[in-house]
Amino acid sequence: MTARGNLFIVSAPSGAGKSSLISALLQDKPADMQVSVSHTTRAMRPGEVNAEHYHFVSVDEFKALIEQGAFFEWAEVFGNYYGTSRTVIEQTLANGIDVFLDIDWQGAQQVKAVMPEAIGIFILPPSREELASRLSGRGQDSQAVIDSRMAQCVSEMSHYNEYEFVIVNDDFDSALTDFKAIIRSQRLTQASQIHTHNDMLNDLLAD
Ligand code: GDP
Ligand code: ADP
Ligand code: 5GP
Repeated sequence: MTARGNLFIVSAPSGAGKSSLISALLQDKPADMQVSVSHTTRAMRPGEVNAEHYHFVSVDEFKALIEQGAFFEWAEVFGNYYGTSRTVIEQTLANGIDVFLDIDWQGAQQVKAVMPEAIGIFILPPSREELASRLSGRGQDSQAVIDSRMAQCVSEMSHYNEYEFVIVNDDFDSALTDFKAIIRSQRLTQASQIHTHNDMLNDLLAD
């Protein structure tokens, strides 16, 4: 049996803190975890770097990638296209590396349909007021974009019950501890341990 990483889907309303939690988790560049860099047609924010935060592409380029079957999942979110590269996910998981998808609920449903063992984690803000203040405080989106994202936050949050785990991101350090606990417990399931300790199990159970 070959090594196989876990696939974690992380969703939240915009501003709940999923990018912050994922980047805090990967801060020390652990060799066994990787975030999937999506393709998007949205405009680059100040400070964003192509191929690091997203692969920024035109609508025509995105549509050509859809035609080629390049996406594991894709969706239109807030008027822009977003998609996850199929080959990167498959190769990374096959190398035994855990992959984190920062994707919306539509993408999560598509991933679950083809890979039911993927683990869904939904991040909630402690209140709508706090969500609004984080979106403004981030200072990277125009007021029109913030207003439109706030208008959609309730419909996004209504999907929280489609995920295995829910984290309330009130105190950031507690939320990060919860996030790490979920990952650790997932790695201890029998299905994961069979992959991780395949040789050892064969030795232990040999006649
Ligand atoms: P954020 O809310 O600050 O993370 O804003 P972004 O512009 O980075 O993301 C916008 C939305 O698109 C979020 O709901 C993301 O989860 C979603 N998203 C990002 N990448 C992907 C992707 O590859 N596939 C899907 N389906 N959704 C994505
Ligand atoms: P998302 O990726 O879900 O849109 P971000 O990670 O960009 O959200 O977080 C939105 C803003 O809220 C950022 O400015 C971030 O620094 C801030 N933030 C995240 N988590 C917390 C928290 N627990 N307390 C206060 N501010 C937070
Ligand atoms: P932002 O534009 O703020 O970076 O992202 C907005 C939303 O798009 C977030 O909710 C984010 O999770 C989602 N998103 C980002 N990349 C993808 C993707 O590849 N697929 C899907 N379905 N959603 C994505």
